[in-house]
Amino acid sequence: MNLVEKNSFCPYCGEPITLLIDSSLSEQNYVEDCEVCCKPMVIQVSVFTEDDIILDVKSEND
Ligand SMILES: [Zn+2]
Repeated sequence: MNLVEKNSFCPYCGEPITLLIDSSLSEQNYVEDCEVCCKPMVIQVSVFTEDDIILDVKSEND
């Protein structure tokens, strides 16, 4: 397992967030609560290579 740090923003409050992505998994979907506003962020990750990771952070209602 190799964890890669990626930065994004909370879709609710706009706070910058840092996510640790396991780059050994090519597709990931999970829900994580924002540390600032505590709302559930739906996180979709596509890993192509360790340097090529697409991150999509959405609100639960999207
Ligand atoms: Zn937030």
